[in-house]
Amino acid sequence: MSGKLVILSAPSGAGKSTIIEHLLKKDFKLEFSISACTRNPRGNEKHGVEYYFLPPEDFKNKIVKNEFIEWEEVYEDHYYGTLKSEIDRIFAKGNNVIFDIDIAGGLNIKKQYGDKAISIFIMPPSVEELENRLIKRGTDSPENIKKRIDKAKFEISFANKFDKTIINDNIDIAVYETEKILNEFLNKKI
Ligand code: 5GP
Repeated sequence: MSGKLVILSAPSGAGKSTIIEHLLKKDFKLEFSISACTRNPRGNEKHGVEYYFLPPEDFKNKIVKNEFIEWEEVYEDHYYGTLKSEIDRIFAKGNNVIFDIDIAGGLNIKKQYGDKAISIFIMPPSVEELENRLIKRGTDSPENIKKRIDKAKFEISFANKFDKTIINDNIDIAVYETEKILNEFLNKKI
């Protein structure tokens, strides 16, 4: 059994996680793809919920054993990747997969799955607004915020490589627009 893949990519702080939370509550049979990563849990994050938090050696072992569909060094010394077993697990339940993944990873998965996947870029209203949101979130150090902003500027230049772009100026409108796209994509026979 195999479902479809919904890829949401965005610069950090563009509101992607909030959109995903809303979509998961809808009737789309979507299940969140839990990535593996080597960073430490933040706040209330738990192993096997937000991420599979792995020691770097374990992560590297899995790369060698070809267990990832894709992986990236998203931030210096911080690796993130999608395990093949995760997609198998979700498809086996008859669900569709939704990914919260960085730009390179999103484009990579789209390339591998073609028409079975839709890639959606969530665009922040502006870089200044993005910086404000990261500061307000209060989970990153100033150096980390600077790193994320520099990366965001670079990432925004890839938006036109995605199937769809949603500008997240207003969360309700962004969710509504994403739902409209998914209604069409998930109901289409491929
Ligand atoms: P955070 O540390 O804020 O949770 O996530 C950092 C970035 O890593 C986000 O842009 C997120 O989308 C990305 N990311 C999460 N999981 C994966 C993954 O499996 N592969 C890739 N390439 N990026 C990921």
